[in-house]
Amino acid sequence: AFDVLVIGGGPAGAAAAVYAARKGIRTGVASERFGGQVLDTMAIENFISVRHTEGPKLATALEQHVKEYDVDIMNLQTAQALVPAAVPGGLIEVKLASGATLKSRTVVLSTGARWRSMNVPGEAEYRNKGVAYCPHCDGPLFKGKRVAVIGGGNSGVEAAIDLAGLVSHVTLIEFDSQLRADAVLQRKLFSLPNVTVITSGQTTEVHGDGTKVTGLSYKDRNSGELRRVDLEGIFVQIGLVPNTEWLKGTLALSPRGEIEVDARGQTSLPGVFAAGDATTTPFKQIIIAMGEGAKAALSAFDHLIRTVPA
Ligand code: FAD
Repeated sequence: AFDVLVIGGGPAGAAAAVYAARKGIRTGVASERFGGQVLDTMAIENFISVRHTEGPKLATALEQHVKEYDVDIMNLQTAQALVPAAVPGGLIEVKLASGATLKSRTVVLSTGARWRSMNVPGEAEYRNKGVAYCPHCDGPLFKGKRVAVIGGGNSGVEAAIDLAGLVSHVTLIEFDSQLRADAVLQRKLFSLPNVTVITSGQTTEVHGDGTKVTGLSYKDRNSGELRRVDLEGIFVQIGLVPNTEWLKGTLALSPRGEIEVDARGQTSLPGVFAAGDATTTPFKQIIIAMGEGAKAALSAFDHLIRTVPA
């Protein structure tokens, strides 16, 4: 059995594994795809002290760093169920899709999240070539250019306010007949001179010239008319979905499906900690996920030294 078993090999899981292993305790990491969302990222310019890197490069560096330590790395493994310890100090079980069961005294959950996509022609083709999902990450790449934000919930309206300070013009497109963001955010949004808000708009296509985005088409849901907007960037803000479906009913999740954690990364189950995009911790970023992963591993260690094994 492991002392610390990490589920998920993104920035949060990699940091948790390194911090646990450095305590000299039996550490394992099981993940579907080591590197996580970082593998799908091109330029990374906000990982402090590294001025510029690329996703696949950072993902390789994460795995190499973990491999410096005595960590059992189990790649291409999907966790399907978590079984809490039967008695205090007992072993927690994680059942994998392969049929195997892993046992550990503590578990760090770091299964991350995925951005909901629009599923329209051109979106996948122009991902990272104008189609973006993270304004904190990619906003500065569109300085002085025209962008659209898809989605009028809190994240979409926050993104539009944020981007309006950087880009020349923002078109916000909401599917519903009204924005769903908090009133205070909407007031701020409508006060900005370089933002156009379109409601009842359904994005139907992303246009490009073969190498980068040049515009989008949307359907006016009231008139049925198709309209085109010329622009250089599209930020899709229609939801970030935590990879926690397999945990439903096992531990406390927020209404959005995020694992509820306290300031120490403790979940509602003893011995089970969580970190990164899968949790209620606000702001989903690499540097934040790593810090939270380190914190969860230290909390797991703290739990181990205070708990008598059953
Ligand atoms: P993830 O990176 O999502 O990793 C989750 C891990 O869990 C993966 O290994 C996955 O395979 C595994 N997993 C999931 N479910 C299971 C399961 N059931 N069983 C086993 N394993 C499982 N952030 C920045 O700071 N700067 C940027 O420039 C930046 N750009 C981005 C660009 C894009 C296109 C995207 C999508 C995200 C970007 N982000 C950026 C956000 C950043 O990637 C995330 O905040 C960060 O990766 C979260 O780390 P994590 O470890 O919590 O989760």
